[in-house]
Formats: sequence, structure tokens, C-alpha cells
Amino acid sequence: MEIFSQIADLQKHLHGLRRAGQSVGFVPTMGALHQGHLSLIEAARQTNDVVVASVFVNPIQFNNPSDLAVYPRTLEADGQMLKAAGCHVLFAPSEAEMYPQPPQLRFDFGNLERVLEGTFRPGHFNGVGVVVGKLFNIVQPDDAYFGQKDLQQCLVVRRLIRDLSFGLRLHICPTVREADGLAMSSRNRNLSLAQRSQAGFIYEQLQYTKQQLLQGGAPQAIKEAVVQAFEQQGAFRLEYFDIAETETLTSIEALAGLKEVAVCVAAYLGNTRLIDNLVIEL
Ligand code: AMP
Repeated sequence: MEIFSQIADLQKHLHGLRRAGQSVGFVPTMGALHQGHLSLIEAARQTNDVVVASVFVNPIQFNNPSDLAVYPRTLEADGQMLKAAGCHVLFAPSEAEMYPQPPQLRFDFGNLERVLEGTFRPGHFNGVGVVVGKLFNIVQPDDAYFGQKDLQQCLVVRRLIRDLSFGLRLHICPTVREADGLAMSSRNRNLSLAQRSQAGFIYEQLQYTKQQLLQGGAPQAIKEAVVQAFEQQGAFRLEYFDIAETETLTSIEALAGLKEVAVCVAAYLGNTRLIDNLVIEL
């Protein structure tokens, strides 16, 4: 596996590969890698000749400075995991390399960034848009791989690709979970043992919601029951729990006419913010 920290060196390397007719698959990450990330590498390996991963903790997508401060950074272990997973190229730039000056460009993704994560993380999706757009320009992949775990991010990236005509295919890959259903996340490392044993509750509530929806339950009543269950459980501070339309993530009140819905949740467990979702076919 080749490792680059400079944009120009990476581009030179990829230019050579592309001229040799190799297709490029790209997996952007913020590091502290786990099996969820590696599933994206595996998906890329199945479609592309060359797999490029990036590890960059993007400061401009953190609206909360203390979240950025405690975000795990494990570059050496990440490199080893990527190599073992068959990744060909790792791009791990410094902040100065990515942002020699603070970027002036601003994205507004409309309603998509005014719901769910957008409500609680002002400026987050602008930061995602800037870094993903920049990385797409740097890597110029044929295919890019993102996790459904961050569903709203996937929809924002899809808009970015369409609005700026990036010539690449977006692949949205399934969420990889721990045995108790907890969605794998770099932030899970910050949970205490006691918190880790409680964290499966989020997935239980998603499963409960799925059952209720498939039995024809009314979204509002289900939402109220889940909010109450979180209150009774006590360990979590729920930011949002919503049943939403899958393209726009706007909240829905009735299931009539819908083929699928997204159930989306964000909650703090101690100081750790966890998000998850299920897309449910009705
Ligand atoms: P992050 O390092 O958190 O920015 O994530 C990098 C990519 O990995 C994003 O596309 C995430 O959606 C994806 N990802 C994170 N966790 C998981 C997971 N548990 N399963 C599948 N993909 C994931």
C-alpha cells in the first residue's frame, strides 16, 4: 500500500494508474477504522482495480469543538488495517495540506440540511460538502463508497455529485453492526464499559419501530412510545427520533402511499453522540 500526505504526489501516482487503464474506487474516512469502514474497502475492491482510502479528521465539519478534541486518531493502526484489507493507496493529509487557507466556499443543501442532523449540527453538512468535493477533485474516482450509517450524509453527497456533475458512481453500503446491534462507529471507542453495555438500546428501539410500522402502527404514536422508552431507560439524552421520507428526510405523519421510510435517531450516551437509522420497506 502506498501512503501519501501531499495532494500533488497522490495525484501524480493516480494519474499513472489511470493512464494504465485502472479504475479507481474511493473510500473517504476520518480514521479510527473499524469493520464498517473495511466493508467499504471490500465493496470497492469488488468493483475497482485500485482502492484509495483517505483518513482526514475534517475540522470544518465539527460544530462542537470538544467533539473534535476527543475524536479518536489512530493513523498507524488505520494504515495496518487498510493494508491488511487490500487497500492500495492511503491518502492522509495534514490540515495545512487540505486547508492552506480557511475555505470561503459555502454549500447550502436546502431542506436536506435543515432536518435531523442539520438541526443539531449547524454548519456540519457545509463542512462535509467542502471536504468531500475537494477529495473528489483530488482523487477523481470512478466510484465512491459511503455507509448508510450516515444516511443524511449520503443524501447530501448525492446532491453534491448531481449539482456539481461529478462523474462518479455513488455506492451506499449497508451498516455494519456489533453483535448487540450497535452500529459500528469510531465514537464507540469513547464509551465506558457500562455505557457500551447500554448502547444496544438504540438498535432495540429501531427494531421495535420496524415491527410497529410493519404492523401498520401510526408514526406519531410510535415516535411517542420510543421517546418515552428513552426517557425511562434514563442513560441517554435523545436529540431526535424521527420517521422520515427516504429522499428528503422530512418527517412523515402517515404511511399511505409510501414504499419505504427511514427511521433516524441521534442520542448522547454520556458525552458520546451516537446516530443510527434503518430504512424500512413497507
Ligand atoms: P467516518 O470515518 O465516520 O467519517 O466514516 C467514513 C465512512 O464509513 C462513511 O461513509 C460512513 O458512513 C462509513 N461508516 C461508518 N460507520 C459505518 C458502519 N458501521 N457501517 C458501514 N459504514 C460505516
